[in-house]
Amino acid sequence: MKRVYFLLAFSAFGLNAYGQKTIDQKVAELLSKMTLEEKVGQMVQYSGFEYATGPQHSNSAAVLEEIKKGKVGSMLNVAGSEETRAFQKLAMQSRLKIPLLFGQDVIHGYRTTFPVNLGQAASWDLAMIEKSERIAATEAAAYGIHWTFAPMVDIARDPRWGRVMEGSGEDTYLGTKIGLARIKGFQGRGLGSLDAVMACAKHFAAYGAAVGGRDYNSVDMSLRQLNETYLPPFKAAAEAGVATFMNSFNDINGIPATANQYIQRNLLKGKWNYKGFVVSDWGSIGEMVPHGYAKDGAEAAEKAIQGGSDMDMESRVYMAELPKLVKEGKVNPKLVDDAAGRILTKKFEMGLFDDPYRFSNEKRQKEQTDNQENRKFGREFGSKSIVLLKNQGNILPLSKTTKTVALIGPFGKETVANHGFWSVAFKDDNQRIVSQFDGIKNQLDKNSTLLYAKGCNIDDQDKSQFAEAIETAKKADVVIMTLGEGHAMSGEAKSRSNIGFTGVQEDLLKEIAKTGKPIILMINAGRPLIFNWASDNIPAIMYTWWLGTEAGNSIADVMFGTVNPGGKLPMTFPRTVGQIPVYYNHYNTGRPAKNNTDRNYVSAYIDLDNDPKYPFGYGLSYTDFKYSDMVLSSTNLTGNQTLNISVTVSNIGKYDGEEVVQLYIRDLFGKVVRPVKELKGFQKVFIKKGESKKVDFKLTPEDLKFFDDNLNFDWESGEFDIMIGTDSQNVQAKRITWTK
Ligand code: BGC
Repeated sequence: MKRVYFLLAFSAFGLNAYGQKTIDQKVAELLSKMTLEEKVGQMVQYSGFEYATGPQHSNSAAVLEEIKKGKVGSMLNVAGSEETRAFQKLAMQSRLKIPLLFGQDVIHGYRTTFPVNLGQAASWDLAMIEKSERIAATEAAAYGIHWTFAPMVDIARDPRWGRVMEGSGEDTYLGTKIGLARIKGFQGRGLGSLDAVMACAKHFAAYGAAVGGRDYNSVDMSLRQLNETYLPPFKAAAEAGVATFMNSFNDINGIPATANQYIQRNLLKGKWNYKGFVVSDWGSIGEMVPHGYAKDGAEAAEKAIQGGSDMDMESRVYMAELPKLVKEGKVNPKLVDDAAGRILTKKFEMGLFDDPYRFSNEKRQKEQTDNQENRKFGREFGSKSIVLLKNQGNILPLSKTTKTVALIGPFGKETVANHGFWSVAFKDDNQRIVSQFDGIKNQLDKNSTLLYAKGCNIDDQDKSQFAEAIETAKKADVVIMTLGEGHAMSGEAKSRSNIGFTGVQEDLLKEIAKTGKPIILMINAGRPLIFNWASDNIPAIMYTWWLGTEAGNSIADVMFGTVNPGGKLPMTFPRTVGQIPVYYNHYNTGRPAKNNTDRNYVSAYIDLDNDPKYPFGYGLSYTDFKYSDMVLSSTNLTGNQTLNISVTVSNIGKYDGEEVVQLYIRDLFGKVVRPVKELKGFQKVFIKKGESKKVDFKLTPEDLKFFDDNLNFDWESGEFDIMIGTDSQNVQAKRITWTK
């Protein structure tokens, strides 16, 4: 009892239970000592010089001076114990000795790279995803990094958009779960631990809905759609305590996200009560001028701070304009206090005021350089991200004693490419990354031979290497072809209008197929590609994305059956570009498509099989799974009851394996039209050959809620289809009634 009084007494004075000042109090005290310029300084972020481009960025000496004057709050692209320490020393020369925050794009691993994010999403393995970020955070923190600009939780339904490689695909439910796993992984035991980095939910918001999939393009959508499809991963991130948010380059219904009061003030900092800070995207404050939303830098700065942007990444207008705007009475000084206060809070939480150099530590850095445990995990994670699309005649797994194997294609001996887009390049990458050739060679029996021919370049029209490749194929018992798009063809500013294999790769494939040799095709890409000919004519296809440091080993593990593939597509694969956007949870229309016999009325093209090439959630295994005995606890529910659903999954094939069991629902009638299917649960289960497992799910009315036309988030009485299956198309369904 005494202790309770003790706690209350201190909290009344803003002190914690042990009589120390709370972070809020420390921040308030510090703010009271700061000049306006120093406060705005906290809101300024510059890039390390080697990355800075353009005349306005070239004056590096000036930046160093600004740091010493307390006019810089954060640096990005400064990493390594030595370098971060050197920068921090400059900040310690400033009047109030406020430490710098070091931010970096740690997107899919750091020293150990993991599959590109969309590939990771294909694992549907939340525990592994979390662990990969735990490792990334540990490695990055050991290099002096405090903050990663990840996870990207943008939902994206257009594979032409290059940044799909950085997200978790098209589905809000899956994307939210993965986003949360990433944040948990990055922030670990909490800000301040030496193996945790601050995470950043980006890009707020709707960046993935750029018109036509063209990067940075406008976004025009109803607020209902925005709230229902694009914002939930952000809301969940805010609730989970993600340290920061980054806004986006796009405008939303005409208002740039950077100045968007509705999303940044009303929702994020208002309704969602978010206490972290918002960093702009690179230059996005200043870019409101060319965007046509601000007449000059001053107006851009004013609109950005009114709109809730706390830190200016590299547009350099906050320092130039905000002090003036405050003095002129155009910007309320409380907005500056609020923004600077949010940033200072994070610096306190990271322990930087206790020791500004605590993350810069050579010993830890050495331990986290080429760490073998991390690589081991990377190898396993890579293999779990591979999606087996086709395996006609069970050509896979390949026997290790196959006498002669030919690896053909431009990616076979690549090393650095396996990183994929968004990875930090290190000098020794060439030696560290396992090529596909080496991975396969290392596992092939010593009496077998692995031949190699490049066949063609990634992206030109030169066929002069075809002949050699054909000859190589003729000598082999099995040909492994490695084709796709270049590793830097998906990523930021990498939208493509044509998403097939680049250059003459498909012609090469057709020529090799003429040899009559059995072909296993590996597809390297950061997005869903279109490859109909291959899909219809090649017996075995593995989607291998970009798998990171251990790529070659991960691939060989699946190729030779050490790992049974269990990945499932996190995005629908289209048949043609003209079919995009195509995604599983589309709305119904009132007009049936040709030959459509069920209720899934879609608007259709007359010249196309309107199904996708591969549906969302699709992926094969070396074994076969059978679903039976789907049981619902009730088909008639009222109020806040819980619906229990179970299904038995049997492994009836020849290998032990993992299956991602997927639960979908459909709300048959609504105040607004509802999607034909919505993912509401999934479980990845390991089942030994010959064994069965009962898999259980639960649904409550919470899972039935949606945004209506007035943005009310609620559920309605009515009929619902409950569906369970191996992908979004192959499901079994039972209908229920649920009444309020
Ligand atoms: C990207 C961000 C990234 C930032 C810093 C921007 O161009 O859109 O996602 O974090 O650069 O590198």
